[in-house]
Amino acid sequence: MLKIKDLHVYYGGIHALKGLNINVPHNKIVTLVGANGAGKSTTLRSVMGLVKSTSGTVIYNDKDITNKKTKDIVLQGVVMVPEGRRIFPNLTVEENLTLGAYTRRSKDSINKDMKWVYELFPILKDRLWQKAGTMSGGEQQMLAVGRSLMTKPKLLMMDEPSLGLAPLIVKDIFDIIKEIHKEGVTILLIEQNAKAALEIADYGYVLETGTIVLEGNGIDLLNNDKVQKAYLGE
Ligand code: ATP
Repeated sequence: MLKIKDLHVYYGGIHALKGLNINVPHNKIVTLVGANGAGKSTTLRSVMGLVKSTSGTVIYNDKDITNKKTKDIVLQGVVMVPEGRRIFPNLTVEENLTLGAYTRRSKDSINKDMKWVYELFPILKDRLWQKAGTMSGGEQQMLAVGRSLMTKPKLLMMDEPSLGLAPLIVKDIFDIIKEIHKEGVTILLIEQNAKAALEIADYGYVLETGTIVLEGNGIDLLNNDKVQKAYLGE
């Protein structure tokens, strides 16, 4: 579904992605793990057209979307939940969710997805009128995921959804990622919580300073010595 081939990204003199190759097959959960500064967010931002690559290609459903406009990429069903939540703090929960659907026309289908989001995150239904900025960190993270679902993604790319959350809520978030996947959404997940990510992933990549150094099935990577030492603290 998504194929990143030999992608290079520079920020001025910093060579952030050095010939990246990643495949995300349809209906799978793929995770990208790596230390701070490895280039994980840059990978997602370049797929979204938010940073421009200097060479290489991003192919989505056999179409070349390299460096295309973000809006056009979203319209094709590629949606990102950015790191740090980025909800609209002065709008209510309901307004935030409604904005997620701004590219869509069918009222019926929007209402159906709104119901689905409330089933996944009952807390959002209870807090429809609350200003999003006054919600707790975990609640804001749920809202950010809920809002991205209102865009009706085919490929959902999540940047550190568990960052800064209490362990109990982290488990909820990973359970919900599995639920979203079950409904037919393909997922590319970026995580520093390598253990939780590899446990739910079909396939994983380990990124170090802009290149993939290791890849394999989620379970195989979990049992890999190098991954255990470097990322699982074992
Ligand atoms: P983290 O987990 O800490 O968010 P990451 O793996 O997502 O890390 P990136 O944010 O992709 O890493 O950053 C990759 C490299 O590019 C880092 O060295 C970072 O300092 C650099 N970088 C990222 N954004 C910019 C920018 N706008 N200007 C200059 N350098 C940048």
